[in-house]
Amino acid sequence: MTVLRAGSATDVGLVRSNNQDQFLVAPPLYAVADGMGGAAAGEVASAVAIEALGEAFAASTDPTPEGLVEAARAANRAVWEEAEANPEMRGMGTTLVALAQVDGGQLAVANVGDSRAYVLHEGELRQVTSDHSLVAEMVAEGRISKEEAEIHPRRNIMTRALGVEPDVPVDLFVEEANPGDRFVLCSDGLPREVSDEVISAVLRRLADPAEAAKELVEEAKRRGGNDNITVVVVDVDDDEGTAAPGELAEAAGDPPAAEEPTAMVAAAAPAPPAPPAASDEPTAMVAAVAPATPAPPAAGGKPAPRSRLRHPSPLNLRVVGFVLVLLLVLGAGAGGVVWYARSAYYVGLRGQQIVIYQGRPGGVLWLQPTVAEVTRYTTSDVLSYRVQSLRAGQEEPSLGAARNYIAALVAERQRTQPGAA
Ligand code: MN
Repeated sequence: MTVLRAGSATDVGLVRSNNQDQFLVAPPLYAVADGMGGAAAGEVASAVAIEALGEAFAASTDPTPEGLVEAARAANRAVWEEAEANPEMRGMGTTLVALAQVDGGQLAVANVGDSRAYVLHEGELRQVTSDHSLVAEMVAEGRISKEEAEIHPRRNIMTRALGVEPDVPVDLFVEEANPGDRFVLCSDGLPREVSDEVISAVLRRLADPAEAAKELVEEAKRRGGNDNITVVVVDVDDDEGTAAPGELAEAAGDPPAAEEPTAMVAAAAPAPPAPPAASDEPTAMVAAVAPATPAPPAAGGKPAPRSRLRHPSPLNLRVVGFVLVLLLVLGAGAGGVVWYARSAYYVGLRGQQIVIYQGRPGGVLWLQPTVAEVTRYTTSDVLSYRVQSLRAGQEEPSLGAARNYIAALVAERQRTQPGAA
């Protein structure tokens, strides 16, 4: 039998004004959630998900992989219900990656969204999870390269998230708990800035999981810190404390690794003053939440012989009556519409004023777009041929992207007609 030792760190980063990431260290359960949504909604989504996950997993009689999946689905429902109950929270969502030691000692990893789990096994780093993002799917289909994905303008778009529909397919991976292995759960703020090589090097250098987690967060900040960064390092140790992951490391002078005996939930760091605009770019999500398709092979294409992906059936139709299923389908449809209608921004005109709207141009069914931001620019600040597309509404995946688009239009005019304006 093995024991787990964990360390964790989270940081708002250098650009965002608040930390929407949350993490959980409650042995034998560990998790990271990266929330999204306007105002405080992102923080609410990740906090609700983490709390519900912990409660549901603790309530299951035996820790099993299926129990972890059920706990993730309970977390999904909790976020969904919170959004339903609070109209100002509509459209919020969160990623969730969770790791739990289950009966038999194996490690189950459940994932929804673009947070990640990695494992360092015999010095080799492997991504356990597959990102539920547009660019990850494009890479899997061979349409773009991994390098192109890293700079793709739509890299923020997720294809699956927790809390945006009443139910969600959850990816499950089951890994052997080999003494010496190190697992990393992280929000996308880490891989967005830090290469696999650097992640791997830090894990090999620092034996203490808390120090490794902290250093990974620091590496992300040194490389830009454009997003919130959260890292939980979970080390697999054997009972006797031999073959500790530290044997791989050369952490001379490091203080002895402290175990974290009690459960703890991350408190989002207090918000420092907001930096000026154009950076507050919430992760956008595409409308169609993917059905439970097999996850593409982990980025990097390394074989994962010890990892099995299972697909729990979304609902046991024999138990749930036909009427219930019908209601659920209708509810999902309506919820999907609300979410689709609210999850985008576009740049448009109100009179001659350039305005950023939340919603879809022309609205969707009964859901009309609302003004998210009135800019100080008018149609006279952009080239005249741009006005028509503004009148139609230029869709952007996020508020930040919409601001960037306006800035680009204004810059374009100043370049072309420097004397004017
Ligand atoms: Mn993030």
